[in-house]
Amino acid sequence: MNTLLHARALSQIEAITATSNRSYVFHGARSLGKATAAAELARALNCQGHDGSALCGSCKQFEAGTYPDLITIGLEDRASIVIEQIRGLVQTLSLSSYYSSGVRVVIIDDAHLMTTEAQNALLKLIEEPPPHTIFILVAERLESLLVTVRSRCQAVHFAPPGEAGIAGLLERQLGLKPSDASRLAAAASGAPGLAFRLATDPAEAEARLELARLAVSLPAAGRFERLLAAGRLIAAKADLWQLSRALQAQLTAQLRTGAVPALSAARSLQALELFRRQLNAKVSARVALERLMLEL
Ligand SMILES: [Zn+2]
Repeated sequence: MNTLLHARALSQIEAITATSNRSYVFHGARSLGKATAAAELARALNCQGHDGSALCGSCKQFEAGTYPDLITIGLEDRASIVIEQIRGLVQTLSLSSYYSSGVRVVIIDDAHLMTTEAQNALLKLIEEPPPHTIFILVAERLESLLVTVRSRCQAVHFAPPGEAGIAGLLERQLGLKPSDASRLAAAASGAPGLAFRLATDPAEAEARLELARLAVSLPAAGRFERLLAAGRLIAAKADLWQLSRALQAQLTAQLRTGAVPALSAARSLQALELFRRQLNAKVSARVALERLMLEL
């Protein structure tokens, strides 16, 4: 089982193999390994047992991505999961006659982005599931699912492991030095999947750390210094959304600890909110950033 997982989620998932429940929702923030855990559960439920180190037939199929009774529904470049996809699923499930001794697993990824119509269609399916079939919904927000759907699913919460937990994983699994592991965990802002990606991409990790450092120094810097920083960020094509998240964390912390007057922190947060709206509205990045630097 995926060792990135929080111990509580892990024990809940391990218990699933022994229950008769048929529908689950794995929920929690991005990059916590929910989809990986769902795929791993599908494999574990179908494992025929291993003799020594040799994989069984169905695990081999999972490894090769050819296991026939794993169905995954996802966004497929759309903004939401639509009713046509669930209708297609209903048809697939009813057409394919099921002879195998294993368990058929349907994974619905990004389930929090299902339309209401799609959810209602899915509800019918999980109320009367076809034989030997289980459903795993993978969702970032449980509240985005209809109460009727939620109440039919056993929920497994994926809690973030925290920066120290991520650093420990990086040390154990990748053999990183403690100082490097802590730096990467900080750059990934608590998302373990991202931390592992950054470990293989030092340039991206350095860019994120630079933004995190800037977020700490900018609010206290003079206007001229901030405008210079804006110029550098634009020239380097920095990820301005990442900067906005780092600034948000910094300003919120300052507001909480009283490090700056509440009114000035509130004003800066307002400027940041306008900055995000301008980025969304495709206002020129330079114009939006320079305005933010003057108002921060
Ligand atoms: Zn196996």
